[in-house]
Amino acid sequence: MHSAEHLLNQTMVRLYDCGRCFSAHIERKKSKCDYRFDHELTADEIHRIQSSVNHVIKSDLLVSETFVLKKEAQGVYDMHKLPEDVDGRVRIVHMGNYDACPCIGEHVSSTGEIGAFRITTTSFKGGALRIRFKLS
Ligand SMILES: [Zn+2]
Repeated sequence: MHSAEHLLNQTMVRLYDCGRCFSAHIERKKSKCDYRFDHELTADEIHRIQSSVNHVIKSDLLVSETFVLKKEAQGVYDMHKLPEDVDGRVRIVHMGNYDACPCIGEHVSSTGEIGAFRITTTSFKGGALRIRFKLS
């Protein structure tokens, strides 16, 4: 689920340049991510996002990690989810060449392990888009 969040975030950045989710609630059965956004998604848009994520999953990209100095990572990666007290080196999690993001969490070893990604519902309110999704 958390690895799927990485792919959804990168897909939203690529399609909408909206930044990674500012809030996420990741559970085993269903998860949700919230984005700063300007409209409710149409059915076509939902389909496009879902297809893009599933395409990356099916490509079975290798997940790897590298470490960079925090001062080198700033300005290159989205750092807002890292704890303030992270000092020295920052762990960057790579999903093939598709996504690279500082993260301290646990991930699949390749994207093919994620399974089929499905957006269940979306809602838009007050400049925030919520995407709910499941895996199967
Ligand atoms: Zn992660």
